[in-house]
Amino acid sequence: MSTALIWQTVSSNLDGTKKLGELLGRHLRGGETIELLADLGGGKTTFTQGLAKGLGSSGNVSSPTFTISKIYKCRDSLEIHHFDFYRLSEPGILADQLAESLSDPKVVTVVEWSDIVSDVLRKNRISVKFEPTPNDPDERRITIKYPESATGLIKAIETEWEEVEP
Ligand code: ADP
Ligand code: MG
Repeated sequence: MSTALIWQTVSSNLDGTKKLGELLGRHLRGGETIELLADLGGGKTTFTQGLAKGLGSSGNVSSPTFTISKIYKCRDSLEIHHFDFYRLSEPGILADQLAESLSDPKVVTVVEWSDIVSDVLRKNRISVKFEPTPNDPDERRITIKYPESATGLIKAIETEWEEVEP
């Protein structure tokens, strides 16, 4: 991501991370790519649960680590395609499936452990990184990198987030 803008915040617990995902989900319109970066247990799947709720999915979001990709039906005939490339050494046919999701304007593509497919991901993705903090095991530093085209979206979320986690 060459010309990414950055917004950083802190989520103080599990519910905060879900809520932030939900705020993002509410604003998405389809065609976006969300890349999630964290170590195991960082909060990627938790964030995706909130995102799915914000997009109006009633489905149960769990980690797709062993199924590798999952689909959640959402409002306005949108879908979330949730990929997890953890433990995969070679993307194979999934890279094609991912490319198809990325090119569908009705799909929000969420990718965990995206390293091996980073060349397939589009440049204007929104990248969300979760890091532990030294003080509190329930706290996560969250860094969102976004393209200029997502500035309005991120500013809106920032304002709504201030009300949740002042
Ligand atoms: P990942 O998908 O990155 O492996 P998960 O979302 O599956 O991570 O798991 C995150 C774990 O960390 C959960 O057990 C959750 O309860 C815990 N947790 C504690 N604090 C937070 C926080 N602020 N945000 C997200 N998860 C948190
Ligand atoms: Mg996960």
